[in-house]
Amino acid sequence: MTTAAHSPVPSVKLLINGEFVESATQQWRDVVNPATQQVLARAPFATPAEVEAAVAAAKKAFVTWRRTPIGARARIFLKYQQLIRENMRELAAILTAEQGKTLPDAEGDIFRGLEVVEHAANIGNLQMGELANNVAGGVDTYTLLQPIGVCAGITPFNFPAMIPLWMFPMAIACGNTFVLKPSEQDPMVTMRLVELALQAGVPAGVLNVVHGGEDVVNAICDHADIKAISFVGSTKVGTHVYHRATLAGKRVQCMMGAKNHAVILPDANKEQTINSLVGATFGAAGQRCMAVSVAVLVGEARNWIPELVATAKTLKVNAGTEPGTDVGPVISCAAYDRVNTLIERGVADGAKLELDGRKPNVPGFEQGNFIAPTIFSGVKPGMSVYEQEIFGPVLCLAEADSLQQAIEMINANPNGNGTAIFTQSGAAARKFQEEIDVGQVGINVPIPVPVPLFSFTGSRASKLGDLGPYGKQVISFYTQTKTITQRWFDDSTLAVGVNTTIAL
Ligand code: NAD
Repeated sequence: MTTAAHSPVPSVKLLINGEFVESATQQWRDVVNPATQQVLARAPFATPAEVEAAVAAAKKAFVTWRRTPIGARARIFLKYQQLIRENMRELAAILTAEQGKTLPDAEGDIFRGLEVVEHAANIGNLQMGELANNVAGGVDTYTLLQPIGVCAGITPFNFPAMIPLWMFPMAIACGNTFVLKPSEQDPMVTMRLVELALQAGVPAGVLNVVHGGEDVVNAICDHADIKAISFVGSTKVGTHVYHRATLAGKRVQCMMGAKNHAVILPDANKEQTINSLVGATFGAAGQRCMAVSVAVLVGEARNWIPELVATAKTLKVNAGTEPGTDVGPVISCAAYDRVNTLIERGVADGAKLELDGRKPNVPGFEQGNFIAPTIFSGVKPGMSVYEQEIFGPVLCLAEADSLQQAIEMINANPNGNGTAIFTQSGAAARKFQEEIDVGQVGINVPIPVPVPLFSFTGSRASKLGDLGPYGKQVISFYTQTKTITQRWFDDSTLAVGVNTTIAL
């Protein structure tokens, strides 16, 4: 963290009431390129008055935005998706510089968010109520899905484009106004996306951005004028946000940490399965909430370890800007230390280090936070590498004698974010789908993130709140259902004024 009030590097701005403003704070944090340690910018920790101003702007804008015709709201997102497409390369370059993932992966991050923007442009078909005719004689009942007011979003570092785009487009398309709190580790691509949203026509005050950490998040949780919070991040912080914000009377959805298991049955297509596993584990340096971090090898599949290790060894570790890179750096020096410490703990706990990716040689990027693919076998519940979310390029191999045993192992793990099974047996896949207690399930699909026609979900410690971000569920999250029962008297004349009547 830097505290200097004046610094030669550019500062990340706040967005309050349509203006990009310099924070008056004394507390700043450097935004650092994880491949080089170059300081790219500094992000402010907004003051209480700045958070207050952002919420006040959103509250004021809600008065008119909530009445904006649905077609006008939809057209802004049609324009917005076009602007994101036109600026894809520039957005990806910013994202790679501050986050580290490869340029193609950065485009994927943006594209998955872009799909939600396209979904928001379809709001006219999504925000529709229901009507029942003649629920009693001459009586109809119908529902209105009305926006709820100021909503807020708190996002993690690992998808700085996709996850903010999970949140504010759907909230705003529903007629709400928004205060976004991006990750303080990589807020620059998020801010560029916010600029494009204003360019697409999002009016002043409808979208606001404050930066910061714990204090700003707590202020958002406590603020009486914020009606709903969408959080994505770790289980520890998400659980805190959920409890604090629900106590303050808000709607809250928290999508949280993971320990995603893939089950490998011996009848699976070997080559495809190994390639899928390696991509899903080591892509984005393992910093995906849907990354596979444990592979459960069932029966004879335990003999596949040498080929798995050989494939992982072929991955190219380098800066995300370099063509052909498979594995970029992890986000920060703190993350680098945490992952290396966990690898040491894995060895100490008795897991077998099949592939040691510590301290790889990356010419030209010697200062980067690089860890090459690392594989442990013989991993068992109770070991640190099994119990903790490593969030780095580390694969734990566990074994099971049967599919039933694998299912029991996964259901006993506290996390329920994503899972996958690899098999050619429909019956095995169906048993898995029915019995597994995990939100996202892939059948021969390693990272089954739902497209925005559906909603992201999660089970047990991976999610709090019942409605997911994007998809159909988020319309219920960002609206209040008003149920109207109406009766009109069928008189032959209707009094209009004191002395006037009209014929019906
Ligand atoms: P994080 O929990 O550290 O940070 C998330 C947000 O909370 C950030 O905006 C941060 O500023 C804020 N924050 C951090 N510490 C805080 C505190 N003490 N009090 C209040 N707010 C605080 O998460 P991260 O490291 O940025 O992201 C990685 C985590 O996010 C992993 O656990 C990953 O599994 C999870 N994740 C989950 C999903 C999902 O959909 N389930 C998606 C992406 C990431």
